Amino acid sequence: MDDYILISTLNDFIFCPYSIYLHNVYAGGDEGLYQATPQAKGKAAHKPIDEKNYSSRKDEITGLPVFSDEFGLSGKIDLYKSNEKLLIERKYKLDTIYRGQIYQLWAQYFCMIEMGYAVDKLAFYVISTNTMHPIEVPSENDKKELLQFINDFRNYNPENEIHINPNKCTHCIYCNLCDKINTENVYT
Ligand code: SF4
Repeated sequence: MDDYILISTLNDFIFCPYSIYLHNVYAGGDEGLYQATPQAKGKAAHKPIDEKNYSSRKDEITGLPVFSDEFGLSGKIDLYKSNEKLLIERKYKLDTIYRGQIYQLWAQYFCMIEMGYAVDKLAFYVISTNTMHPIEVPSENDKKELLQFINDFRNYNPENEIHINPNKCTHCIYCNLCDKINTENVYT
């Protein structure tokens, strides 16, 4: 499973493909080196799930490791409510739902389906506002779109020229470590 793509990196790849390269370079290092406040809060939001103490209900599964051979993906779901066949991804804050975040939920969905779970509904749950945001279950065209995206991800070459967007870079958690730009991020 070494070459399986982590579902948690799909959104980062859309934000900037080069950030995936940096993520791999600094993987296993001190997260405090690059982890900015929003990411730290997001991680805290997932902590009860990661520690599997979010729910003790029999009809709720939390922090389940998932994978898909078809997509070459692996990751973890936040919460699955079997009585509603509902898959939920928790976010601390969610002002805009980006395509990459939807890809992550679709990816979890396809993994769950391949593993034999019934999933009829998808949603983001936003902790800061205590609101639920339903997302359509992916269509056949959505599936093709995700497969194409994963193919692009798999074939990315960090030596390719990248388009630098300084506004994006200052909001990038790797900004202080990135050799493509000389400014610091807004979180320092
Ligand atoms: S600082 Fe800019 S170029 Fe570097 S990884 Fe982040 S977004 Fe990409």
